[in-house]
Amino acid sequence: MEISVPSRQLFIDGEWKVPLLNNRIPIINPATEEIIGHIPGATKGDVDLAVDAAKRALSRNKGRDWPSAPGSLRARYLRAIASKITEKKDEIGKLEAIDCGKPLEEALADLDDVVSCFNYYAELAEGLDAKQKAPVSLPMETFKTYVLKEPLGVVALITPWNYPLLMATWKVAPALAAGCTAILKPSELASLTCLELAEICREVDLPPGVLNIVTGFGHEAGAPLASHPDVAKVSFTGSSVTGSKIMTAAAQLVKPVSLELGGKSPIIVFEDVDLDKTAEWTILGCFFTNGQICSATSRLIVHESIATEFVNRLVKWAKNIKISDPLEEGCRLGPIVSEGQYKKVLNFISTAKSEGATILTGGSRPEHLKKGYFVEPTIITDVTTSMQIWREEVFGPVLSVKTFSTEEEAIELANDSQYGLGSAVMSKDLERCERLSKAIQAGIVWINCAQPSFIQAPWGGIKRSGFGRELGEWGLDNYLSVKQVTRYI
Ligand code: NAD
Repeated sequence: MEISVPSRQLFIDGEWKVPLLNNRIPIINPATEEIIGHIPGATKGDVDLAVDAAKRALSRNKGRDWPSAPGSLRARYLRAIASKITEKKDEIGKLEAIDCGKPLEEALADLDDVVSCFNYYAELAEGLDAKQKAPVSLPMETFKTYVLKEPLGVVALITPWNYPLLMATWKVAPALAAGCTAILKPSELASLTCLELAEICREVDLPPGVLNIVTGFGHEAGAPLASHPDVAKVSFTGSSVTGSKIMTAAAQLVKPVSLELGGKSPIIVFEDVDLDKTAEWTILGCFFTNGQICSATSRLIVHESIATEFVNRLVKWAKNIKISDPLEEGCRLGPIVSEGQYKKVLNFISTAKSEGATILTGGSRPEHLKKGYFVEPTIITDVTTSMQIWREEVFGPVLSVKTFSTEEEAIELANDSQYGLGSAVMSKDLERCERLSKAIQAGIVWINCAQPSFIQAPWGGIKRSGFGRELGEWGLDNYLSVKQVTRYI
């Protein structure tokens, strides 16, 4: 399938701008290892221009500027963006697939979520005006107090490569709905679809400067953006290591941040489950998007009485997953996003082996694929809690298994992690599931399922998985400040 990759520039102040240093970053299709195009590489000077443009958009045409425009006007632009994405869904889906290696079917499903997310925040933007001046009840009548919710100003949105356009949308849609203006910095490993979002902003005549999109490396474009004095807030999704750097930079200016970081999520399987159904969820929870999901349930904690039987079923499932070029029909697992990540995943597996773990299935490149950064779905047993494979985020298709005998032991194993993003509890005993939901240290608990996410429900973690919540009303509140107004009567 021949796909033409559009050649784009930085999107600043409503126009395409060649990067000041004329840097270009090659894009490699991870399924073929071929260079398929280039993206512009922004540096500090470009970031400064983008922030200036976003600042101007806050106050342009006083009275008709972005923050004080009625929510219904902002909603109209968000809906127009959603409908353009729907129109171009096939084209954008294919770009996503060749850029980050996501199976085309998954990429198209992500785009449905992107569209829903823009429409959802359009609705919240419309409702925002009615929520202004919410009265606060006071214990005396001599004062009257109400609350104004106001956009924070210029916000920096820095995103990863695993769900390139969806992760960007989780930030762009609520930020714009709230009345903020923004600079989006997608990952240098997968920026193509965010640049198509820029083209769509041009097509729907989004006012200049409201959304600026600068592509480039983290240290060259992300760092100056995160530390820019005119950026009111940084909303970041990515690794815990980068999250910590961003927090340090923001701390210098007492700038708020929200951080959606890595994870090492547990899935606890009790002895009373339906083995087939649970195996299906376990496979999906760990191997969907090639395990490159922040909330991948990559630590299986299974009751000892069913462990052998259950793991055998998982192995059968894993061996049947179709691994191929993401554009091939029926593909379930594409390549890892880049050579660097591919080597990292294989290193994790070989370290596990050298530490004494057993590779039950997978562990290397599938024989039928000679090119591309493909790794077989891998299941590892004989794991101890001190092993790297149990403790660190792999961000690849690797499931580590441990057994338990009591509920307390399962909880202890689940919570023995620096992370706290997703978690899953599988049991027919719903009271037990409720009990565990309270005991597990995580931002999300799935009961008898794994990985569903809903635009209406809060998403985010605790511990080293970060703080702040995206999606739902919480996502909008990320970009609003709360002002108290009190009158003496
Ligand atoms: P990463 O931290 O390497 O990069 C994320 C973004 O930060 C990229 O745009 C990158 O260019 C930028 N960046 C890098 N260094 C920077 C710096 N010093 N200052 C500012 N920006 C900088 O992460 P990644 O490899 O792109 O993504 C994978 C990670 O993202 C995994 O750890 C995964 O768990 C996490 N993730 C979390 C969620 C969530 O919702 N919690 C969702 C998706 C991915």
